[in-house]
Amino acid sequence: MKFLVIDDSSTMRRIIKNILFRLEYKDVIEGENGAQGWELLHQYEDISVLITDWNMPEMNGLQLVKKMRAKAQFADIPIIMVSTDGGKAEVITALKAGVNNYIVKPFTPQILQEKLLDVLENRA
Ligand SMILES: [Mg+2]
Repeated sequence: MKFLVIDDSSTMRRIIKNILFRLEYKDVIEGENGAQGWELLHQYEDISVLITDWNMPEMNGLQLVKKMRAKAQFADIPIIMVSTDGGKAEVITALKAGVNNYIVKPFTPQILQEKLLDVLENRA
């Protein structure tokens, strides 16, 4: 299973990658904004799950999600959004755009694991 991790913070990417590695998910691609994410989705056509930040330069996470959901090829890829904004309005906006699950920063490895399992179970 290949993961795509998009965040403009290299520290946050490292944290997420370390959690995935500990869960034995070792196939992880990373990028630092939505535009890079969009390119990587085309470059690697076998991305299984996207974990993306919301606030990023160039193209933010919400824009990336909207682009993916509008394109059949990427419409069904499970997406977890990770953001410092935990407000109800933000969460609803993200879910409406097609995000499958939402995590507020800072978060524990346990939270990411739970949301990931939830997304994978509901994938089919
Ligand atoms: Mg950010």
